[in-house]
Amino acid sequence: MPHPDLTLPSLPRWEFPTDLDTPQVVVDVDRLDRNVAAMAGALAARGVALRPHAKTHKSVEVARRQLAAGAAGITVATVGEAEVFAAAGVDDLFVAYPVWAAGAKAERLRRLAGRVRRLRVGADSPEGARLLGAALAGTAAEVLVEVDSGGARTGVADPAAAAAVADAAAGAGLPVVGVFTHGGHSYAAPGAGAAAADGEVRALDAAARALAAAGHPVEVRSAGSTPTALLSARDGVTEERPGTYVFGDRQQVRLGAHPPEDVALVVVTTVVSVSGGRAVLDAGAKTLAKDLPATVEGYGLLPAYPAATITRLYDHHAVVEPGDGPLPRLGEVLAVVPNHVCPVVNLATELVAVSSGRTVGRWPVDARARSG
Ligand code: PLP
Repeated sequence: MPHPDLTLPSLPRWEFPTDLDTPQVVVDVDRLDRNVAAMAGALAARGVALRPHAKTHKSVEVARRQLAAGAAGITVATVGEAEVFAAAGVDDLFVAYPVWAAGAKAERLRRLAGRVRRLRVGADSPEGARLLGAALAGTAAEVLVEVDSGGARTGVADPAAAAAVADAAAGAGLPVVGVFTHGGHSYAAPGAGAAAADGEVRALDAAARALAAAGHPVEVRSAGSTPTALLSARDGVTEERPGTYVFGDRQQVRLGAHPPEDVALVVVTTVVSVSGGRAVLDAGAKTLAKDLPATVEGYGLLPAYPAATITRLYDHHAVVEPGDGPLPRLGEVLAVVPNHVCPVVNLATELVAVSSGRTVGRWPVDARARSG
């Protein structure tokens, strides 16, 4: 079977310091800064705000770079991530998730609302909105109602149902300021972004109309995913929330949503065993994560060995089969471009920042494992 990545422009070989203790997650700061600037510039040119999703990097240092480049605030997935960024001084946060504000979560949300300038929280059911109201009424927090634009995950399926969610929030004393969606179906195949972006624009428009008809102000129409960010930034959409763009990964390159030359993060790993026509790397599932999107083959790409496939992962072993190319050498230190970068970062304690092959910093993954 032809290797799917052979249909891509090849990913450039990576330069990294030779003295790294592997496995190690390495970020090329120059490529990172280019990604940050490119998204900020492209959305500014369209007059649409950028609120990058920080679940990709979980790093205060990277969030600061995004904010310095013009991001309006940041998006997070969990209250735990929000707590970390708030403690670091990020004061404009959107928890783009239907937070179920019961028990300790309600208390944490209320404390969080008291320490930031702006806190927005998602809701997609009247029940969830009432819980948010009980937790947050009387604070400056605001609600965005989530509408499903085709991803079939969260969000009201019928945009008209957004009004009942907004009524419940407002009735519980929590102002509603708009609607949001996530075009996750853009991941289905290369080229799926355009239709997914159309879906985002349409769903947000219909939900916004439903809210307005029920008497709610609609200041925010927030869309977002890396493959759709530049495609749905139009026709009334006010904000985009891409996350993965900051590093890129093998899946984004495959989808055509990230330039191969600007993939900014790799896992640096050592070949620890060669036998039986296989090589084994010291980065397994606990480093590379096990995401296996339908659009790629194997558990990551080796730019130095583009014909090779990582066919199996164990906790601390990655088995590489060479395909038509040479077999990696015992002791060789190699870069692996992860399939999906977000879980890889979540498994690391720090990111080694490099520029022109030299280490220039070590950034903690501040919000790692803050999954609730
Ligand atoms: N918004 C929401 C609600 C998400 O769930 C995600 C990612 O899962 C994003 C934005 C960012 O999308 P991407 O990872 O494609 O950049």
